[in-house]
Amino acid sequence: MADRTGWVGRVRVPGEPRERVVRLWTDGAAPGPRTEVEEIEDPFAAAIPWKGGDSRANAQTLALTAPAIAGGLRGPLEQYTLAPPVRPGKIICVGRNYRAHAEEMGNDVPEEPILFFKPSTALLGSGQPLSLPRGYQRIDMESELVAVIGRQACQVARDEALQYVAGYTLGNDVSNRDLQRGDKLWTRGKGFDGFAPCGPFVRLWPLSTPLPDDARIRGFLDDEPRQDSALGLMIFDLAFVLSYVSRVMTLEPGDLVYTGTPEGVSALEPGQVVRIELQGVDLGSLVTPLV
Ligand code: MN
Repeated sequence: MADRTGWVGRVRVPGEPRERVVRLWTDGAAPGPRTEVEEIEDPFAAAIPWKGGDSRANAQTLALTAPAIAGGLRGPLEQYTLAPPVRPGKIICVGRNYRAHAEEMGNDVPEEPILFFKPSTALLGSGQPLSLPRGYQRIDMESELVAVIGRQACQVARDEALQYVAGYTLGNDVSNRDLQRGDKLWTRGKGFDGFAPCGPFVRLWPLSTPLPDDARIRGFLDDEPRQDSALGLMIFDLAFVLSYVSRVMTLEPGDLVYTGTPEGVSALEPGQVVRIELQGVDLGSLVTPLV
């Protein structure tokens, strides 16, 4: 099994509201339309004590070893609709975590991480349309790497923090600048339904291993490159952010951490399509048609 890459996500049978947790195996590339899915019990729930799980378990290990559910979903991915890959208790975001983005917005480079939440109702699976709210001047895309927590993390040290990550996916921190500028907090500006596209899947990643600094987060608008930056240019790296957050709040399996966007944020219009990718480590494509 060492030469196989495991992925987990959530899908729906078209026409049915219920989401199912599935696992996929690839040779390292992202799952494609022909990749077989197998339904498993939710490994993130199984690592949360108050959901009946075990706080010492990492959802990643559970995801890799779970037996496929007898009579569960099977067959090629193309017959299913993608849902957000996890259903987190909380979505934590880091603001202004790339120098060039802070500067393009006319902001100072922060001395400590700027943290905010997005509501779980903002999540949107890859391929699902985002309905842009009417009557605003500027709504932007923000291409971001997203870390998925695998194990309960409370007051963890920076050099141990990556043990608590199950894997990685992609996110778009869609931002209504009209409201973000006018409001004191970003709750409205970042919180509309659908303002947190996420996916397509969680790529399970070796525990305690950082992603390469030269992997590049890339954002495209109608196939035109708009954002392209090495992960190593983050002001606060993921291990630091996780340690910093965990001094205040317990991170739980399935929680998402949006790590911030590089420069090149771009205004969105109905009819366009946003695509976000990571070059260097294939996380697949997070695709969002705008309506
Ligand atoms: Mn952001």
